Amino acid sequence: MALKNQYMIDLLETVKRRNAGEPEFIQAVTEVFESLEPVIEKRPDFVAEGVLDRLVEPERQIIFRVPWVDDNGNTQVNRGFRVQYNSAIGPYKGGIRLHPSVYLGIIKFLGFEQVFKNSLTTLPMGGGKGGSDFDPKGKSDKEVMRFCQSFMTELYRHIGADCDVPAGDIGTGAREIGYMFGQYKRITNEFTGVLTGKGLTYGGSLARKEATGFGLCYFTNEMLKANGKSFEGSTVVISGSGNVAIYATQKATELGAKVVALSDSNGYIYDPNGIDLDCVKQIKEVERKRIKEYVNTHPDATYTEGCKGIWTIKCDIALPCATQNEIDAESAAILAKNGCYCVSEGANMPSTPDAIAVYFANNMLYGPAKAANAGGVATSGLEMSQNSERLSWTFEEVDGKLKGIMKNIFKACDDAAKEYGLEGNYMAGANIAGFLKVAEAMKAQGCV
Ligand code: NDP
Repeated sequence: MALKNQYMIDLLETVKRRNAGEPEFIQAVTEVFESLEPVIEKRPDFVAEGVLDRLVEPERQIIFRVPWVDDNGNTQVNRGFRVQYNSAIGPYKGGIRLHPSVYLGIIKFLGFEQVFKNSLTTLPMGGGKGGSDFDPKGKSDKEVMRFCQSFMTELYRHIGADCDVPAGDIGTGAREIGYMFGQYKRITNEFTGVLTGKGLTYGGSLARKEATGFGLCYFTNEMLKANGKSFEGSTVVISGSGNVAIYATQKATELGAKVVALSDSNGYIYDPNGIDLDCVKQIKEVERKRIKEYVNTHPDATYTEGCKGIWTIKCDIALPCATQNEIDAESAAILAKNGCYCVSEGANMPSTPDAIAVYFANNMLYGPAKAANAGGVATSGLEMSQNSERLSWTFEEVDGKLKGIMKNIFKACDDAAKEYGLEGNYMAGANIAGFLKVAEAMKAQGCV
């Protein structure tokens, strides 16, 4: 959908010029601009106050050297990032991604998305994101520890419980958060809730591990229900086999679906009997091995090299939970042809703009990442509350709050879409609802 508003066209041109070489960031900004056009038409005050002009520029971008020593005694050097994107409604909050594909453009796109996502949760959290091009795969625990300690030795001076609270993301799980927290505490001599996703023995929250995958299913369930459908009896394909994919598989199964496929960056497994999740947890969470190991113990299951083919498996509901731009127009068209009626995003920006156009052209239900996967950061917000109170809530309490938050997020997206005459377009609804709160806060705080 091409923009018509001249101010927005000009501003998008400026964004493209200023951020040349960062296609993911430009993609994320373009999508949000297209959704916000009717809002900007209605609210000249946002233009007068330069709200959008300020929103497309992160408040602060930190890039630093991360030197560490590998098990052979050799020096390795990675690049670390923290983008403190927007603090209008609360301290910066967002995960740390450790993956070789990380560069500034990825961290900026994730930070930008995080601003709207965090706003949708209704909790007081601004948006940020960080990471490094370090690859934890194939590294020993000690190497990962030395990397994490070096990363935090620079990062600690930029973060704090009331300033910027990082969390996990691709490649950063409980092990990495533990090493980073230990180093933060050692340097600052303070035990504070500076990171979320912590272990349960040192301030973590029950249900945080499950939160993004569970939250994705709670959101999707609301969207299905509002459209006369349900998980019950459906066939589901989920990409990835990391934190989000595993707990999405668990909740979708509990809600009556049969999940038949999972993947990693090498390939995908298909099990017509339904995925045996205990086996996947053993392979991925305990042994840290590849998903193809699954077929060794499941003779009816097959493994196929290459991850794109997972979208050729016939399903009712697709939950992409691996990485950005993993579903292109071709894969989206195959999903539609095979009768898939719902795509809901656990990963951040997993659908290309052309894939999203295919969903809409085929009247598929589309749950956009910034709403559908907000359960992770929402529960991180709940971890921050527990840390401040010096209390721990039960699993049921946290899960109950998560369910309520996801229900409200769906309602906010639905209501905003309806208000702007875009009923059923939850992408526009999420962008508009997420934006309005941040925009009002930015306006109220003046030109900062
Ligand atoms: P994990 O590192 O636990 O798992 C990532 C999974 O995706 C792995 O199976 C990985 O395979 C696969 N993957 C990663 N990169 C690629 C790639 N380039 N191509 C194909 N597959 C890939 O990460 P999470 O589960 O935490 O995160 C998954 C997605 O969910 C990300 O987009 C993340 O930003 C998003 N997200 C995560 C949240 C959280 O709470 N963890 C919160 C909100 C969003 P392999 O092992 O081969 O690399």
